[in-house]
Amino acid sequence: MPECELCGRQSSQLYVANIEGATLHICSSCAAGAKGVKGPVARPAAATVSAQERGSNADVPSLIDGYGFAIRQARERMKLPLKVMAEMLSEKETLLLRIEEGKAQPTVELTRKLEKFLGIRLTEESRDESGFVAGKAPEATLGDFIKKG
Ligand SMILES: [Zn+2]
Repeated sequence: MPECELCGRQSSQLYVANIEGATLHICSSCAAGAKGVKGPVARPAAATVSAQERGSNADVPSLIDGYGFAIRQARERMKLPLKVMAEMLSEKETLLLRIEEGKAQPTVELTRKLEKFLGIRLTEESRDESGFVAGKAPEATLGDFIKKG
């Protein structure tokens, strides 16, 4: 079993961390208090990065611009009051309103539900594996999404 290079404890899961310029393999309890932790080392570096990227993007689908407007337009075309649509989708009316106003983002699941229900497309097509990860800062992206609208 590998040993933590900081405290010497044996751990099945070590993390790569940059501590005062040195790259160390440390255990999870040391990683919890350390800065510059890059993530578990058990997985290949590429897999780790894409897993993190996919993790942050799983909750935040790559929605089209004006997704809220698109939802509202489609709903009004069907002459469906928001309340009725909320009931049919088993979702909160207030949540759907915030989504229509662009103040909230639907989850992947809800996005799929809305797309199917309204017969529209709400997500970007280009979600190819190639180059998807390159040059993306997850925190900034997440921040942008939250601030959006
Ligand atoms: Zn340790």
